[in-house]
Amino acid sequence: MTAVPSSLLRDLSALLGPKGLISDADRAPYERGYRYGAGRAAALIRPADVDQLRSVIRYCHAQDIRFFAQGANTGLVGASTPDDSEEQILISLGHMTAIETLDPLDRSMTVQAGARLSAINAAAAPHDLFFPIDLGADPSIGGMVATNTGGSRMMRYGDVRRNLLGLEVVLPDQDATLLSNLTGLRKDNSGLDWKHLFVGTSGAFGLVTRARIELHAVPRRTAAALVVPQTQAAVPHIIGLLENALGDSLTACEGMSRRAMQAAFDHNPALRRPFGGDIPDYAILVELGTSLSDRIMPDLDGILVDILGSACEGPAALVQDVLFGRAADFWAIRHSISDGVAAMGQVIAFDISVQRSALPAFRAAAIDLIEREFPQLILCDFGHCGDGGDHFNLVWPNDIGPAREDRAPMIARLRTALYDLITTEFHGSFSAEHGLGPYNQGFYDRLKSAPERQLTAAIKDRMDPKNLVGNIRFERGSLSPAPPPTA
Ligand SMILES: Cc1cc2nc3c(=O)[nH]c(=O)nc-3n(C[C@H](O)[C@H](O)[C@H](O)COP(=O)(O)OP(=O)(O)OC[C@H]3O[C@@H](n4cnc5c(N)ncnc54)[C@H](O)[C@@H]3O)c2cc1C
Repeated sequence: MTAVPSSLLRDLSALLGPKGLISDADRAPYERGYRYGAGRAAALIRPADVDQLRSVIRYCHAQDIRFFAQGANTGLVGASTPDDSEEQILISLGHMTAIETLDPLDRSMTVQAGARLSAINAAAAPHDLFFPIDLGADPSIGGMVATNTGGSRMMRYGDVRRNLLGLEVVLPDQDATLLSNLTGLRKDNSGLDWKHLFVGTSGAFGLVTRARIELHAVPRRTAAALVVPQTQAAVPHIIGLLENALGDSLTACEGMSRRAMQAAFDHNPALRRPFGGDIPDYAILVELGTSLSDRIMPDLDGILVDILGSACEGPAALVQDVLFGRAADFWAIRHSISDGVAAMGQVIAFDISVQRSALPAFRAAAIDLIEREFPQLILCDFGHCGDGGDHFNLVWPNDIGPAREDRAPMIARLRTALYDLITTEFHGSFSAEHGLGPYNQGFYDRLKSAPERQLTAAIKDRMDPKNLVGNIRFERGSLSPAPPPTA
C-alpha cells in the first residue's frame, strides 16, 4: 500500500467541490465510534451523489488509497471509524439521504443510503406504513444493510435482509462499477440474488448507494405485559406458548435480568416501577400488535390475560406473575437499560445468540463461569430472547480494582472463555446482530471455520482486488488460527 499523496485534499476538492470535504473542526464525531473505534482519517468526505462517489472510488483505486463508508456511526464493533494510520478516506453518506420513491400499493420505498430510519418512518407514516426494524438508535439504511440490523421486533418482521427488495452498490474496482437492481420484485429467480452479498458484510465488498425496502402496516392497536417466569428454563416455553396462541400478533419478547432493570430504574428515576421495590430475577416484555381493521379488531388485552392467566395455574405453571400496563412504560424501561448499565462502571458487552431453546442452559453455564472465574463482575443482561439473542453485558464496578488501564488481560481472558463457551458448547454466534469489525476480527479469525473464511476471502478478492475497502481483514493465504484479541 502506498502512502496517501500530498495532493490528496486538493484532488478530492477538485472531484467533490468544497462542500464535499468535512473540515478539521468537524472531525470528532466521525472519528470516534459509539462503543469501540477511534482513529484519524487522511480525509473525511461527503459526496453529493453517486457520480461523485464513483469518481472518488476510481481515484482511490488508481492511487491505492484505502477507504470505507460511514452512515450514522451507531455501529458497535468499531467498523465505522478510521484506524490510526491516517491513510484511509472516510466516506460519509450524510449528503445522500433522499427518500426517492414511496409506493403504498407495493408497500415499498426507494431511499438513498444515508437516509435515517427516523426519516424513513416519518415519510411512511402518512400511509399507515413503517419499516419494521426497531432499535434504540437512529441508523442509516446503508449501515443497516451492511450490518443486517435485527432489533426488538425481529421475531415478527425479520431483519433487514428479510425486508430488502433491491439494492444499488458501487464496487471498489477500477471502474467503480455500479450494480443496481431496484425493481422491487418480490419474486425473481432469474439469476444470482447478489444483493445478499452486501447484507451483513460490513461494507467490505462495496458501498451501498440506494436500497429498496419493504414497508409494513402500522399496528392499529398494541397490548403489552411484563411476564415473570417461574424459572429460567420456562422462558422458551412461555415464548412458544405465546407464539402458538397468538401467531403473528406476537411482535416482541424482550428479556431483562434483575440487575439490568435495577440499572434502568437507578439511572432514570422518571420510569414507572411496575414491580414496586421487589424486582424479579428476570422478566419478559411481551408485546402484541395487530393491524386488523376496527371491524374485526380482537381484544388483545383480553387474549393476553387469558393465555398468561392460565400459564400461572397448576403445579406445572410456567409463569410466576404477570403485570399488564402501557407498552410505552415497559419499553421505556427496556430502552433505559443501556445507559443505566453504562452508569454502573465499565461495560464488557457480548452480543451473542444461541438457539432460543438453549438460552436457559447457556445463561446457567455462563453465570457459573462468571461466578467462578470473574466474581467481581455484575451480570446485567437483556435482549431479544424471542429470537435467541442476549446482550450478555457484564459490568466491572468503578470501585473494584484494578484501574481500567490494567484490566485488559483479564478482559481478554473473559472474552476468550465466553466466546469459546458460546460457539463450541452452544453452537451460537459471537456477533448476533452487530456484524464484524476490528473489535471482533480476532474472534472471526479464530472461531469461523477455515472453509467459510476461505470462501469469504475469495469473494472479497473478486470484488475488491486491491483490498482497499472496509475495516476488516480477510485472510488471503493460509488460514491458521489467529491469537485471541486483547480487550
Ligand atoms: C443504542 C444502540 C442500540 C442498538 N441496538 C441495536 C439492535 O437492537 N439491533 C441491532 O442489530 N443493532 C443495534 N445497534 C447497532 C447499530 O445501530 C447498527 O449496527 C446500525 O444499523 C448501523 O448503522 P449506521 O448507519 O449507524 O452504520 P455505521 O455505524 O456508520 O457503520 C456500520 C458499518 O456499516 C458500514 N456502512 C455504513 N454505511 C454503509 C454504506 N452505505 N455502504 C456500505 N457499508 C456501509 C460501515 O463501513 C461499518 O462497517 C444499536 C446501536 C446503538 C448505538
